[in-house]
Amino acid sequence: MQCNRCGRRTPEDELFDHATGTLCEDCYISAINPVRTCDPWAVFTAKHAPHAESLTPLQQRIVDIVDKRQPLSHAALGEAAGLEPLDLEHELATLAHMAVIRARRLDSGEVVLMRSTTGKE
Ligand SMILES: [Zn+2]
Repeated sequence: MQCNRCGRRTPEDELFDHATGTLCEDCYISAINPVRTCDPWAVFTAKHAPHAESLTPLQQRIVDIVDKRQPLSHAALGEAAGLEPLDLEHELATLAHMAVIRARRLDSGEVVLMRSTTGKE
């Protein structure tokens, strides 16, 4: 399911019905609480974020690698995808925003990347 306001993919049980549509928790809270104004940058980013259906070939490659090898570290993913750390961070930021991939911190303190189940329908 997608939030009607920001377009973010959201599990059905985290969606709220509102006069303006079906909204994620964040959008619902701002919709029913007009006193708290939205962060303009967050709204801009959400409006201009690509939809999950339109991954770039590079993003799709990253997702495929994570699907096959998860959980894996940034370093392992960068190596497998042939990306510089900064380029990888940029793509991961987009994928995380789209709720396709998420980072998890293990008990050992190591951060690993996993496929976000909420990104699937
Ligand atoms: Zn939303």
